[in-house]
Amino acid sequence: MPSEEKNELLRLIPRVDELADFAASASGAPREIACEVARSVTNRIRESIVSGRTFSRQELSLDSLGKLTVRELENLFKPSFKRVINATGVVLHTNLGRAPLSEEALNAIKETSQGYSNLEYRLSTGERGSRQEHLEGIICRLTGSESAFVVNNNAAAVLQVLTALARGREVIVSRGELIEIGDSFRLPDIMLSSGAKLCEVGTTNRTKLSDYREAIGPDTALILKTHMSNYRILGYSEEVSIFELSKLAHEHFIPLVEDLGSGSLIDLTPFGLEGEHTPMASIKAGADIVTFSGDKLLGGPQAGLVVGKAEYINAIRKHPLARALRIDKITVAALEATLREYLNPEKVLIRIPALKMLLDDEKNIEKKAKKLKRILDKEKPEKIQYEVVREFSTAGGGSLPLASLPTWCLKVKHSLHSAYETSRLLRESNPPVIARMKDDSILIDLRCIHEEEISMIADALLGIQ
Ligand SMILES: *Cc1c(COP(=O)(O)O)cnc(C)c1O
Repeated sequence: MPSEEKNELLRLIPRVDELADFAASASGAPREIACEVARSVTNRIRESIVSGRTFSRQELSLDSLGKLTVRELENLFKPSFKRVINATGVVLHTNLGRAPLSEEALNAIKETSQGYSNLEYRLSTGERGSRQEHLEGIICRLTGSESAFVVNNNAAAVLQVLTALARGREVIVSRGELIEIGDSFRLPDIMLSSGAKLCEVGTTNRTKLSDYREAIGPDTALILKTHMSNYRILGYSEEVSIFELSKLAHEHFIPLVEDLGSGSLIDLTPFGLEGEHTPMASIKAGADIVTFSGDKLLGGPQAGLVVGKAEYINAIRKHPLARALRIDKITVAALEATLREYLNPEKVLIRIPALKMLLDDEKNIEKKAKKLKRILDKEKPEKIQYEVVREFSTAGGGSLPLASLPTWCLKVKHSLHSAYETSRLLRESNPPVIARMKDDSILIDLRCIHEEEISMIADALLGIQ
């Protein structure tokens, strides 16, 4: 484009203050921010023109660029963090926020956080208390432990336990348990940052009691056992039980620590879900310290629970890291309310959303899938083909890695778009719908879908152009 033509176009760009006035009055946003956005819009247009793009007079009008500025300005005020519909079927989807909170937990957050609370204040004496006091009693009652302490998440729990009990000394770990959980939780790295020295024993597939015994020396601080959360070693394999390991540890007057990962407070084996044992079972078998997450199978907020013998918990509690890893009042509220649900073992399976969805009857899920199909049938959509199919969903969150849970999905194919494109468009709907892909179709898994979300999914599917 000749430079005269470019200069002509550049002259047509509205002035920043004109655009800012337009956008500020149309959107009600403060003028200063409107000015910033207007400047960035005009800069962008100017650069496009300079690099050779042409625009019509209409495109460069105050009205047209003003509207663009208003749109960008309004986007600035929209939350980035928002609700989505989880149609993946993965109950504890870490990227989608893991465990949804129970009604009671949400109420407790509102009740205690809207105004003031007795977070660290003893109402009986009017003296300073500890936020941990709201949690310790109920955790001990539920897990059968002597003492308990809660930090920000399970990674923090492991870090704090190792730092407090093993800094500068050796920690014995089986080579089959040097885990990576994802999102850069690698056990060897956590050990390194705690200042503990890693003493690996056994092999990837087999570690025997004698391997541990031979490794114990004057510099050994503790034995660490890690739950294989998100993987299994099958076939020719051997690991040492908590019971045997705790006997060995106690013969040498060192503690046995277990990083349990999920730590379900309910034995899930009667429901056909193998592979997770409870913190109660570990403590009974002789573990001195057990750590587990608050937002995995427990079904509460993000937290790391440390349970076990008082002498060790006291040392852990006193370490200065405790202050850096301490939980927020919102966590205290949600965790206490979640834990109290477990006092009623019959109701807990319905009242904790993660447990309810995990153990839901296949027939209920099928009903929801059929309802979604019926809503679509009424609209007679021309561009999508769909059918109700039986599939399998997973627990997620590094829990129950081998469990495949029978579920029901709506399998959808769009006549104009690939599965990849269709799932992108579903993510753009409001609220975004996150689905699974399979064989160039998308699967809407109804396991984690609320009754009132079914019509939202239908709207999202019908809204795809
Ligand atoms: C999930 C998991 C962790 C990390 O827990 P967060 O609560 O996500 O920090 C650590 N160890 C094991 C064995 C796990 O399964």
